[in-house]
Amino acid sequence: TASKPPILLALNWKMNKLPSEAGPWAKALQEELPATQAEVAVLAPATHLAFLASDLYGSGVAFGAQDLSAHASGAYTGEISAAMLSDLGARYVITGHSERRTMHGESDDTVAAKARAAQGARLVPIVCVGEALEIREAGRHIDVTLTQLRGSLNRVDGDPSQLVIAYEPVWAIGTGRTATAADAEEMAGAIRKTLHELYGEAASAIRVLYGGSVKPDNVREICGQPNVNGALVGGASLELPSVLGMLAAL
Ligand code: PGA
Repeated sequence: TASKPPILLALNWKMNKLPSEAGPWAKALQEELPATQAEVAVLAPATHLAFLASDLYGSGVAFGAQDLSAHASGAYTGEISAAMLSDLGARYVITGHSERRTMHGESDDTVAAKARAAQGARLVPIVCVGEALEIREAGRHIDVTLTQLRGSLNRVDGDPSQLVIAYEPVWAIGTGRTATAADAEEMAGAIRKTLHELYGEAASAIRVLYGGSVKPDNVREICGQPNVNGALVGGASLELPSVLGMLAAL
Protein backbone atom coordinates (compact mmCIF):
# COMPACT_ATOMS: atom_id res chain seq x y z
CA THR A 1 0.00 0.00 0.00
CA ALA A 2 1.16 3.54 -0.78
CA SER A 3 2.40 5.64 2.13
CA LYS A 4 0.11 8.30 3.54
CA PRO A 5 0.53 11.69 1.81
CA PRO A 6 1.71 14.55 4.10
CA ILE A 7 -0.92 16.25 6.26
CA LEU A 8 -2.35 19.46 4.78
CA LEU A 9 -3.46 22.19 7.16
CA ALA A 10 -5.59 24.45 4.94
CA LEU A 11 -6.50 27.79 6.52
CA ASN A 12 -9.78 29.16 5.18
CA TRP A 13 -9.89 32.80 6.18
CA LYS A 14 -13.31 33.27 4.53
CA MET A 15 -14.22 36.99 4.23
CA ASN A 16 -11.92 38.17 7.01
CA LYS A 17 -8.85 40.37 7.49
CA LEU A 18 -7.78 43.28 5.29
CA PRO A 19 -5.30 43.04 2.43
CA SER A 20 -2.82 45.15 4.41
CA GLU A 21 -2.98 42.64 7.27
CA ALA A 22 -2.15 39.62 5.13
CA GLY A 23 1.56 40.31 4.60
CA PRO A 24 2.44 40.97 8.27
CA TRP A 25 0.44 37.87 9.26
CA ALA A 26 2.33 35.77 6.72
CA LYS A 27 5.67 37.08 7.97
CA ALA A 28 4.78 36.37 11.59
CA LEU A 29 3.69 32.85 10.64
CA GLN A 30 7.04 32.17 8.99
CA GLU A 31 8.97 33.56 11.95
CA GLU A 32 7.15 31.35 14.40
CA LEU A 33 6.53 28.29 12.27
CA PRO A 34 7.52 25.19 14.24
CA ALA A 35 9.39 22.37 12.55
CA THR A 36 6.57 20.32 11.06
CA GLN A 37 5.95 17.62 8.50
CA ALA A 38 2.60 19.18 7.68
CA GLU A 39 2.02 21.38 4.67
CA VAL A 40 0.37 24.73 5.44
CA ALA A 41 -1.76 26.68 2.96
CA VAL A 42 -3.41 30.07 3.53
CA LEU A 43 -6.67 30.40 1.56
CA ALA A 44 -7.46 34.09 1.45
CA PRO A 45 -9.80 36.54 -0.30
CA ALA A 46 -8.60 37.43 -3.80
CA THR A 47 -7.69 40.97 -2.71
CA HIS A 48 -5.10 39.55 -0.28
CA LEU A 49 -3.35 37.14 -2.60
CA ALA A 50 -0.73 39.41 -4.17
CA PHE A 51 0.48 40.31 -0.70
CA LEU A 52 0.67 36.66 0.30
CA ALA A 53 2.50 35.93 -2.95
CA SER A 54 5.28 38.35 -2.11
CA ASP A 55 5.46 37.70 1.63
CA LEU A 56 5.31 33.91 1.42
CA TYR A 57 7.68 33.65 -1.54
CA GLY A 58 10.23 30.92 -0.93
CA SER A 59 8.82 30.13 2.53
CA GLY A 60 7.32 26.72 1.87
CA VAL A 61 3.93 28.01 3.06
CA ALA A 62 1.49 27.75 0.18
CA PHE A 63 -1.43 30.02 -0.54
CA GLY A 64 -4.59 29.89 -2.54
CA ALA A 65 -8.06 31.26 -3.16
CA GLN A 66 -11.54 30.43 -1.88
CA ASP A 67 -13.31 30.33 -5.24
CA LEU A 68 -12.68 30.87 -8.96
CA SER A 69 -14.57 31.17 -12.22
CA ALA A 70 -15.30 28.06 -14.25
CA HIS A 71 -14.57 30.17 -17.36
CA ALA A 72 -11.14 30.77 -18.83
CA SER A 73 -11.49 34.49 -19.67
CA GLY A 74 -13.83 37.00 -21.23
CA ALA A 75 -17.03 38.85 -20.39
CA TYR A 76 -17.53 37.64 -16.81
CA THR A 77 -17.66 40.83 -14.77
CA GLY A 78 -16.41 40.40 -11.24
CA GLU A 79 -14.97 36.93 -11.80
CA ILE A 80 -11.42 35.67 -11.29
CA SER A 81 -9.94 32.95 -13.47
CA ALA A 82 -7.74 29.98 -12.67
CA ALA A 83 -4.97 31.42 -14.84
CA MET A 84 -5.00 34.67 -12.83
CA LEU A 85 -4.59 32.75 -9.57
CA SER A 86 -1.95 30.52 -11.03
CA ASP A 87 -0.03 33.51 -12.39
CA LEU A 88 0.20 34.90 -8.84
CA GLY A 89 1.74 31.65 -7.64
CA ALA A 90 -1.36 30.29 -5.91
CA ARG A 91 -1.29 26.53 -5.44
CA TYR A 92 -4.78 25.75 -4.12
CA VAL A 93 -8.34 26.90 -4.66
CA ILE A 94 -11.44 25.85 -2.73
CA THR A 95 -14.36 24.79 -4.90
CA GLY A 96 -17.89 24.17 -3.69
CA HIS A 97 -17.56 25.31 -0.10
CA SER A 98 -20.96 24.80 1.55
CA GLU A 99 -21.29 28.57 1.99
CA ARG A 100 -21.08 28.98 -1.78
CA ARG A 101 -23.40 26.07 -2.41
CA THR A 102 -26.04 27.56 -0.10
CA MET A 103 -25.59 31.31 -0.50
CA HIS A 104 -24.64 31.36 -4.19
CA GLY A 105 -26.59 28.36 -5.42
CA GLU A 106 -23.57 26.45 -6.70
CA SER A 107 -24.54 23.02 -8.00
CA ASP A 108 -22.37 19.91 -8.23
CA ASP A 109 -22.04 20.65 -11.97
CA THR A 110 -20.71 24.14 -11.29
CA VAL A 111 -18.32 22.83 -8.67
CA ALA A 112 -17.00 20.20 -11.09
CA ALA A 113 -16.55 22.81 -13.84
CA LYS A 114 -14.58 24.97 -11.41
CA ALA A 115 -12.42 22.04 -10.34
CA ARG A 116 -11.68 21.27 -14.01
CA ALA A 117 -10.77 24.92 -14.62
CA ALA A 118 -8.44 24.83 -11.62
CA GLN A 119 -6.65 21.67 -12.74
CA GLY A 120 -6.36 23.09 -16.24
CA ALA A 121 -4.28 25.95 -14.83
CA ARG A 122 -2.20 23.67 -12.59
CA LEU A 123 -4.01 24.67 -9.42
CA VAL A 124 -5.06 22.04 -6.91
CA PRO A 125 -8.80 22.23 -6.27
CA ILE A 126 -9.99 21.53 -2.72
CA VAL A 127 -13.41 20.12 -3.56
CA CYS A 128 -15.80 20.42 -0.62
CA VAL A 129 -18.67 18.07 0.16
CA GLY A 130 -20.75 17.38 3.25
CA GLU A 131 -24.27 16.90 4.52
CA ALA A 132 -26.73 19.13 6.35
CA LEU A 133 -27.99 18.28 9.82
CA GLU A 134 -31.36 16.87 8.75
CA ILE A 135 -29.60 14.48 6.37
CA ARG A 136 -27.35 13.20 9.15
CA GLU A 137 -30.31 12.83 11.48
CA ALA A 138 -32.11 10.81 8.81
CA GLY A 139 -29.05 8.54 8.58
CA ARG A 140 -28.50 9.38 4.90
CA HIS A 141 -25.19 11.23 5.30
CA ILE A 142 -22.98 8.69 3.52
CA ASP A 143 -25.28 8.30 0.57
CA VAL A 144 -25.90 12.02 0.11
CA THR A 145 -22.25 13.00 0.52
CA LEU A 146 -21.01 10.36 -1.93
CA THR A 147 -23.59 11.44 -4.52
CA GLN A 148 -22.42 15.02 -4.07
CA LEU A 149 -18.81 13.84 -4.41
CA ARG A 150 -19.44 11.99 -7.67
CA GLY A 151 -21.31 14.98 -9.10
CA SER A 152 -18.63 17.43 -8.00
CA LEU A 153 -15.92 15.30 -9.65
CA ASN A 154 -17.73 14.82 -12.94
CA ARG A 155 -15.01 14.79 -15.64
CA VAL A 156 -12.46 16.07 -13.15
CA ASP A 157 -9.79 13.82 -14.58
CA GLY A 158 -6.49 15.61 -14.11
CA ASP A 159 -3.66 14.03 -12.10
CA PRO A 160 -5.32 12.67 -8.92
CA SER A 161 -2.30 13.71 -6.84
CA GLN A 162 -3.34 17.28 -7.76
CA LEU A 163 -6.75 16.96 -6.16
CA VAL A 164 -7.89 17.43 -2.56
CA ILE A 165 -11.30 16.57 -1.11
CA ALA A 166 -12.66 18.25 2.01
CA TYR A 167 -15.44 16.59 3.97
CA GLU A 168 -17.24 19.34 5.87
CA PRO A 169 -20.50 18.39 7.56
CA VAL A 170 -22.52 21.59 7.37
CA TRP A 171 -23.73 21.21 10.97
CA ALA A 172 -20.12 21.34 12.21
CA ILE A 173 -19.06 24.51 10.35
CA GLY A 174 -18.60 27.49 12.63
CA THR A 175 -20.85 25.90 15.24
CA GLY A 176 -18.23 24.61 17.67
CA ARG A 177 -19.84 21.24 17.12
CA THR A 178 -17.07 19.01 15.72
CA ALA A 179 -17.81 15.63 14.22
CA THR A 180 -16.17 12.91 16.30
CA ALA A 181 -12.94 11.48 14.94
CA ALA A 182 -14.92 8.30 14.27
CA ASP A 183 -17.54 10.24 12.25
CA ALA A 184 -14.76 11.92 10.25
CA GLU A 185 -13.05 8.59 9.60
CA GLU A 186 -16.27 6.85 8.63
CA MET A 187 -16.94 9.42 5.92
CA ALA A 188 -13.29 9.78 4.85
CA GLY A 189 -13.15 6.00 4.38
CA ALA A 190 -16.33 6.03 2.29
CA ILE A 191 -14.96 8.94 0.23
CA ARG A 192 -11.68 7.09 -0.26
CA LYS A 193 -13.51 4.02 -1.53
CA THR A 194 -15.43 6.14 -4.04
CA LEU A 195 -12.20 7.85 -5.13
CA HIS A 196 -10.68 4.43 -5.80
CA GLU A 197 -13.69 3.54 -7.93
CA LEU A 198 -13.24 6.77 -9.89
CA TYR A 199 -9.44 6.97 -10.13
CA GLY A 200 -8.12 3.47 -9.38
CA GLU A 201 -4.76 3.04 -7.64
CA ALA A 202 -3.87 6.71 -8.10
CA ALA A 203 -6.58 7.65 -5.58
CA SER A 204 -4.16 6.81 -2.74
CA ALA A 205 -2.42 10.12 -3.47
CA ILE A 206 -5.62 12.18 -3.02
CA ARG A 207 -5.74 13.96 0.31
CA VAL A 208 -9.07 13.83 2.11
CA LEU A 209 -9.43 16.62 4.67
CA TYR A 210 -11.96 17.08 7.45
CA GLY A 211 -13.41 20.52 8.16
CA GLY A 212 -15.79 21.87 10.79
CA SER A 213 -14.76 23.43 14.10
CA VAL A 214 -11.21 22.08 13.95
CA LYS A 215 -8.95 23.66 16.58
CA PRO A 216 -5.72 22.96 18.47
CA ASP A 217 -7.29 20.49 20.88
CA ASN A 218 -8.96 18.23 18.30
CA VAL A 219 -6.75 18.53 15.19
CA ARG A 220 -4.38 15.73 16.15
CA GLU A 221 -6.99 13.08 16.80
CA ILE A 222 -8.89 13.95 13.60
CA CYS A 223 -5.80 14.08 11.37
CA GLY A 224 -4.55 10.85 12.92
CA GLN A 225 -7.42 8.84 11.45
CA PRO A 226 -6.30 6.38 8.74
CA ASN A 227 -8.24 8.02 5.90
CA VAL A 228 -7.93 11.66 6.99
CA ASN A 229 -5.01 13.62 5.51
CA GLY A 230 -5.49 17.04 7.04
CA ALA A 231 -7.98 19.73 7.95
CA LEU A 232 -9.75 22.70 6.42
CA VAL A 233 -9.94 25.25 9.21
CA GLY A 234 -12.10 28.37 9.35
CA GLY A 235 -12.48 30.11 12.72
CA ALA A 236 -9.26 28.76 14.23
CA SER A 237 -7.25 29.88 11.18
CA LEU A 238 -7.60 33.60 11.90
CA GLU A 239 -5.43 33.94 14.98
CA LEU A 240 -1.76 33.05 14.72
CA PRO A 241 -1.56 31.38 18.17
CA SER A 242 -4.25 28.86 17.28
CA VAL A 243 -2.59 28.11 13.94
CA LEU A 244 0.72 27.56 15.73
CA GLY A 245 -1.13 25.48 18.31
CA MET A 246 -2.56 23.24 15.60
CA LEU A 247 0.84 22.82 13.95
CA ALA A 248 2.46 22.00 17.29
CA ALA A 249 -0.25 19.41 17.97
CA LEU A 250 0.13 17.63 14.63
P1 PGA B 1 -14.86 26.37 10.89
O1 PGA B 1 -15.03 26.46 9.30
O2 PGA B 1 -13.49 25.80 11.17
O3 PGA B 1 -15.01 27.77 11.39
O4 PGA B 1 -15.94 25.44 11.39
C1 PGA B 1 -14.54 25.46 8.44
C2 PGA B 1 -14.86 25.79 7.01
O5 PGA B 1 -15.98 26.26 6.74
O6 PGA B 1 -14.02 25.59 6.09
